Amino acid sequence: LRILLIGNGGREHALAWKLAQSPLVERIIAVPGNGGTARLPKVTNDTSVKADDYPGLVRLAQENGVNLVVPGPEAPLVDGVEGFFRDAGIPVFGPSKDAARMEGSKTFSKDFMKRHNIPTAAYENFSDYEQARKYLESISHNVVIKATGLAAGKGVIIPQSREEALQGLREIMLDKAFGSAGDEVVIEEFLEGDELSILTFSDGTTIKSLPPAQDHKRIGEGDTGLNTGGMGCYAPTKLATPQLLARIEREILQPTIDGMRKEGFPFRGCLFTGLMITPDGSPKVLEYNVRFGDPETQTVLPLLESDLAKIMYACAGPVPFLENVPVNVSSKFSTTVVVAAPGYPEAYPKNIPMQVADPPEGINIFHAGTKLSGDALLTSGGRVIAATATGDSLRAAVDKAYEGVKLISFEGMYFRRDIAHRAFRQTSA
Ligand code: ATP
Repeated sequence: LRILLIGNGGREHALAWKLAQSPLVERIIAVPGNGGTARLPKVTNDTSVKADDYPGLVRLAQENGVNLVVPGPEAPLVDGVEGFFRDAGIPVFGPSKDAARMEGSKTFSKDFMKRHNIPTAAYENFSDYEQARKYLESISHNVVIKATGLAAGKGVIIPQSREEALQGLREIMLDKAFGSAGDEVVIEEFLEGDELSILTFSDGTTIKSLPPAQDHKRIGEGDTGLNTGGMGCYAPTKLATPQLLARIEREILQPTIDGMRKEGFPFRGCLFTGLMITPDGSPKVLEYNVRFGDPETQTVLPLLESDLAKIMYACAGPVPFLENVPVNVSSKFSTTVVVAAPGYPEAYPKNIPMQVADPPEGINIFHAGTKLSGDALLTSGGRVIAATATGDSLRAAVDKAYEGVKLISFEGMYFRRDIAHRAFRQTSA
């Protein structure tokens, strides 16, 4: 296979690392890639075409005999990149523009869940500010307000009072803090519970999931401070017993994939389902993403024992055959600790020189915001780099991931020291 991989984050470094191990893979072109993908065998970074120049990407793919395209982030999928390649006859591991609405429009995905009886928080959609305001004034329960469109994880407000709710609504719908993403909002019931996320491969019919993961979104230890793209992650979570996972597949994942197919927009790719496990033990969908999560991907791919390229081709190729392809995972635990630039998620400096020592067996260093300048490695983003480790227990994986962090150094580097703290609080894992 010759693969075109779109994106430049830690997720894409992990995808390239795993794909490069496949004997089926001859070459991977990463557009634009990062300082980590640049150093992998079989991978070349290509910056001659912009990642959002879809006709340009198709030309690049044709010139290089690409026969599988893997878009990493949501933006190209929601823009409809799959259609550009479909017209050129090149398979894409990722959903069509219609199917990508499951992430691109929260009002759409909530209505989809209602149509298919998929458990989720009770909600109302609004496109009219006055109606939304009146609704907020009429209710007394806690709510969450979500801008419908893509807002890089920032378009969700969890207000502590009615005043905060009204102010948040004004910011989204009137001040357009997230642009047209705020033309419509979902106002939904606030759910208590524990969160987990599941990555599921699908060819449109069959589903095969990776171990459930728990992300850490806040910048500060003890889950405090501003939201980020994700500061760390571990998998599997003890929360997800085999019984609960079976229930999630039966009540949520399979009905989602079946519903999408029946409505005429089959899902072929990796579906990320964010779930709340409510205090009575019922799983409810918080959100769908139509691509791999970041940093969940860095955490769970080291647990995947099967050939990722083969799985992707089984989902995306001309004849879907995921049913016949194993998705085996090891029984180990995995942990990722993200290292960020000083100041992140607010303003932060770039181009800080950094050193990364070679990791020993069992530890991976996945680059996100890094770039090579000559031979020098420099920071180029907020979430800079991450250490992932596997171990026979969660404790062993966590300890080893922090050993991995010691291999990284740059001025002002910041990381949370309490990744997986909720697991240790729940049990003596
Ligand atoms: P991202 O893609 O970064 O995960 P997003 O902007 O797509 O975020 P959601 O996942 O829908 O938004 O919500 C972000 C976070 O807000 C969730 O991970 C969860 O912590 C919290 N949240 C969302 N909906 C609810 C809810 N109904 N009750 C309680 N918390 C919620």
